Amino acid sequence: MTRALETDYLVVGAGAMGMAFTDALLDHVDAHVTLVDRRHVPGGHWIDAYPFVQLHQASVFYGVGSTVLGTGAVQATGPEKGMQERARVSEIRAYYDRILFDRFLGSGRVTFVGGSEYRADGSVHLVTSLLSGETRSVTVRRRVVDATYLSPAIPATTPVPFPVADEVRVAPIADLARLTWTPRSYVIVGSGKTATDGIIWLLGNGVPPDRITWVRPRDPWMLNRATVQPDPVVALELAANVMEAAASAASLDEMFLRLEAADVLFRIDRDVMPRMAKTPTLAAWELEILRSVEHVVRLGHITQVTRREIVLDHGTVAMPRDALVVHCAAAGLSYPPLVPIWSPDMLRLQTVRAGFPCFNAALVGYVEATRDDDRERNRLCPPNVYPDDLASWARMHARGALASRTFGAEPDIAAWADGCALNPSRIGARRGDPAVCAARTRVTEHYERGVTRLAELGR
Ligand SMILES: Cc1cc2nc3c(=O)[nH]c(=O)nc-3n(C[C@H](O)[C@H](O)[C@H](O)COP(=O)(O)OP(=O)(O)OC[C@H]3O[C@@H](n4cnc5c(N)ncnc54)[C@H](O)[C@@H]3O)c2cc1C
Repeated sequence: MTRALETDYLVVGAGAMGMAFTDALLDHVDAHVTLVDRRHVPGGHWIDAYPFVQLHQASVFYGVGSTVLGTGAVQATGPEKGMQERARVSEIRAYYDRILFDRFLGSGRVTFVGGSEYRADGSVHLVTSLLSGETRSVTVRRRVVDATYLSPAIPATTPVPFPVADEVRVAPIADLARLTWTPRSYVIVGSGKTATDGIIWLLGNGVPPDRITWVRPRDPWMLNRATVQPDPVVALELAANVMEAAASAASLDEMFLRLEAADVLFRIDRDVMPRMAKTPTLAAWELEILRSVEHVVRLGHITQVTRREIVLDHGTVAMPRDALVVHCAAAGLSYPPLVPIWSPDMLRLQTVRAGFPCFNAALVGYVEATRDDDRERNRLCPPNVYPDDLASWARMHARGALASRTFGAEPDIAAWADGCALNPSRIGARRGDPAVCAARTRVTEHYERGVTRLAELGR
């Protein structure tokens, strides 16, 4: 081991959460941050993402608090005309590069240690260069921050989760954009956002729906993109719809069906009750495209693929000839145990309000900088879950609503959050707008009963 490093904050992970946390910290505390990542550049999973991926929500909700991603423009043409722009992966990577090099390194208060693996040996913090093999110890004056706790699993870095015979061609979704042969058909494996992106991209590039077999172990509920826009009326109406649907629902299914009737949630097949509720965001035009794929296999998870058969938990189907099996089956969101964000050994970045990882990481950075007692910090920012099924979706909204009320009751946090573009609930200058006031009244009307019922349904 050679040269040691010294820093106030050691942030492990330069993905979206580590970047948003560091950015908020720099604005509110005079400290030095060392940012470590095994990748050579910031941006986390976006660095290995498929080339046709786009944010599934508005760009302004993503990135770091100090610097808006994109221009904040509304789309002027295309099927999402009237909705906010959504950055493509190339723009996201360039944005994080700029944030790191111009803002972070330019401040003189950040050191970036890329291409390096972090590990702890007892209370000793070590970073090892993946290029030179050199290991350095890091003396941390204030805090070690785990910004990897919610790191998503993506197909590019996760092996195919079932055995595949040698003769079968299988590839992660990213390889669709670099094929050197033309498959006769495609077997898309997965029910989540990645699979839907793959299908929409294939169909958009002229592949007819009958050349696609979609292995969908669980049907997904998805969030209507029109209800997740940086407009306080839209945001408040969404909150009111969720509270109202929960308040009067006798069951989880009933709540989800009410939200579908209110145009908040989509399902692909109206004859199937979805059991998955990670709720990626989708536009109505994408839903129509997905519905054109008729060959859907709902027999559970694949256990193996041979040259002739796809074997699943609950049956077997024929393997199409000359097919490419497209791996979209990584877990995406991760579900580690909920732990206090502030512990004596480490700060573990997690969400607090429902969804929106970048806003949550910035919020935790702000609270870290402006409070001096960990019990108080943990009171203000209790960890939240990411949703997977219907119950955890309800739980996420119940916990998120209560946490938002708690941190929102602190005048300085409320003022900071109202000025932070990453915050999907900010009202800003439109506080007196009659449409905003009407939507707030609707939220208030259903809030107490809604939160109570969400918590009950989420048990
Ligand atoms: C395809 C896709 C699209 C998405 N779209 C959206 C969206 O539109 N809006 C939204 O809000 N969310 C979206 N998400 C959710 C996503 O989880 C978050 O956006 C966010 O990017 C997660 O960032 P992260 O920092 O938690 O994890 P990561 O991006 O995985 O970053 C963690 C970093 O930690 C590093 N690391 C891990 N362990 C170590 C170690 N021991 N030593 C050194 N480095 C280490 C990794 O190399 C990685 O760079 C999307 C997710 C996916 C997969």
